[in-house]
Amino acid sequence: MTTHEQPVDSVLETIGRTPLVRLRDGPEDVRIYAKLETFNPGASIKDRIGRYILERMLDRGDVAEGGTIIEPTAGNTGIGLAIAAKQLGLDAIFVVPERFSIEKQQLMAALDAEIINTPTDAGMGGAIDRAHELADELDDAVVPQQFANPLNTEAHYETTGPEIYEALDGAVGAVVAGCGTAGTLMGIAQYGLEQHPETHVAAVEPEGSLYGEVLGDDREEGEYKTEGIGTHNVDTNELFDPELVDAVHAVPDRDAHDELKRLASEEGHLVASSAGAASVAAKRVARQIADGELDVPHDTVVTVFADSSERYLSKGIYRSFEEWDG
Ligand code: PMP
Repeated sequence: MTTHEQPVDSVLETIGRTPLVRLRDGPEDVRIYAKLETFNPGASIKDRIGRYILERMLDRGDVAEGGTIIEPTAGNTGIGLAIAAKQLGLDAIFVVPERFSIEKQQLMAALDAEIINTPTDAGMGGAIDRAHELADELDDAVVPQQFANPLNTEAHYETTGPEIYEALDGAVGAVVAGCGTAGTLMGIAQYGLEQHPETHVAAVEPEGSLYGEVLGDDREEGEYKTEGIGTHNVDTNELFDPELVDAVHAVPDRDAHDELKRLASEEGHLVASSAGAASVAAKRVARQIADGELDVPHDTVVTVFADSSERYLSKGIYRSFEEWDG
């Protein structure tokens, strides 16, 4: 299930079927597993949606071979879409706010995509607006728009979710995942709740992000260094469905950073800040289960490590918290 032992004809066929690895920190009686999305060819969870969304859009005739996809992206989605676009005969243009990691932008360019930067101040909203402007200017160009595209969630409902449940023979009590677009969590949660309606579903965001407000939690908006998760404007995150979510865990940057370093030094995982935050939250949920605070069908928590720390070495990810330029 989590191996690719047979030879295949295209890099697209190596996407998914990533390992699920037990984490060693946390309460003794509750197992925590992390799905290692760094094993994808573009080294992040977003390879899944790159392939899935473009194959479906081509099937449906939303875009034809030779056409162009334009996407506002923090980077990982760009890499995933760029891999799939080229193999499926599409051109790719990405609109990236300046603050995002230079490694990601170099990788997108290496994958033959064009990059357009928008000002950091304009945020993801600025990148989204620019992508739509460009699409209007070009012939046969579409914006997959991962923040609003149900195919994003569907990719995880069809692949990530079933892989987790198959690997654990259905013995999943809680799913915990960082929310950027929320496609990952929503897809896994939809699948998991079908398997067992009592499955605990927990979203993870950096402190300073506002997802928690949707569930009625107090949140103070602020800047954060953790990359790839969180939102300042939930209206742009159309996939997030509060009906499916039991809790939103806000994780301070400092805790996410301590944890990503611990995951490397103690457990051999070269993962980035969103994985650090996910691991912190997964341990909180495991503690709640151990303390009898949550009624879950199994004493097992599953989380997702979305991408690799190598992608952020230029930002000093393994330096001190103060020196880390998130
Ligand atoms: N971690 C990282 C590093 C990401 O790039 C993303 C995607 N923005 C996520 C987590 C969250 O994934 P999703 O968009 O599916 O919520």
